[in-house]
Amino acid sequence: MTFLVVQTSFIGDMVLTTPLIAELARRGPVDVLTTPITGPLLANNPAVRRVILYDKRGADRGPVGLWRAARSTRELFDEGSKHPVGYDAAYLAQGSIRSAIAARLVGAEEYVGFSTSAGRVLYTRVIPYREDKHHAERLWSLATWNEPSAARPPNIRPALYPGEKEREAVDDLLGLASSKSTPRGSHQSLVTSHQSLVVLAPGSTWATKRWPYFADLARILASRFTVAIIGSEAEQVAARAIRNEAAVEICDATGRLSLLGSAELIGRAAALVTNDSAPLHLASAMNTPTVAVFGPTVPAFGFGPLASRNAVAGLDSLACRPCHRHGPRRCPLGHWRCMRDLSADHVAALVEELVA
Ligand code: SF4
Repeated sequence: MTFLVVQTSFIGDMVLTTPLIAELARRGPVDVLTTPITGPLLANNPAVRRVILYDKRGADRGPVGLWRAARSTRELFDEGSKHPVGYDAAYLAQGSIRSAIAARLVGAEEYVGFSTSAGRVLYTRVIPYREDKHHAERLWSLATWNEPSAARPPNIRPALYPGEKEREAVDDLLGLASSKSTPRGSHQSLVTSHQSLVVLAPGSTWATKRWPYFADLARILASRFTVAIIGSEAEQVAARAIRNEAAVEICDATGRLSLLGSAELIGRAAALVTNDSAPLHLASAMNTPTVAVFGPTVPAFGFGPLASRNAVAGLDSLACRPCHRHGPRRCPLGHWRCMRDLSADHVAALVEELVA
């Protein structure tokens, strides 16, 4: 049996697809069709045979690009064989019509996806989308459509595998590489024990999901922990503003680490504080204690933390929560209390509890 998993969505979705991939890999080789942004997350993953990149917003844009990407996938050959790749089943972890067409063009015996997906008319097996389950479990359930009694694995946590390159990048960032190479340790590293590091992830694509008190939190935490900020290059300006406002020493990793490098840094931390965004899922994969700040969204949507130690900061008593699946561009009520009323002291206390 050989399988194709199609996941061309966001970073967090790719991370949450790894339990599905691991489940399928028990039965046969798994190839993953994904984007150039999320594909590197699968590096070193022992459950993945091949990552096939589909640049849906770049080189493979439009119908011609889609056809070209599918054709080049069809032309892949199994190692040591001259037979074209033929999949026994394609799993549509991303539900767009475009993903369904891509899978159809590649070719498989079965096309398995969710009943709520736009591309469901092209599936041969439609699986219920269980609103009451975590998204990692929903995706995992695609693999068991013909095994209704299949037991959910006790640990549905996703998994990522940072390698030597990521370890070196994080050593460099934290000054560990140079302190190791100095016999008397005269170069002081930023972090002397992984227990002393707390990573902050203040970014989110959706503005209303960005908790506004990360600077205050950094100031509180800096007396006890080394504080680092992660994020993309695009988030460097926001990180600088937090550093300036906090006026304490902060290790700014924004734009300096790959996604897997960020996972490696998170994996070394005593805790991560994050919005409802991709780093939350990186922490789940690395099983790093997580404080997740939820404003207009709620964990019940299926995207809460899965680390074995975690805490959610959210105003459960606010009647307008949740107000949007992803977080609206602006608070429709204008006051944005779901975030404004969550104090830095409260979040810092949650960090202390988790670390203790
Ligand atoms: S309506 Fe409520 S939940 Fe939505 S953004 Fe405003 S305060 Fe937050």
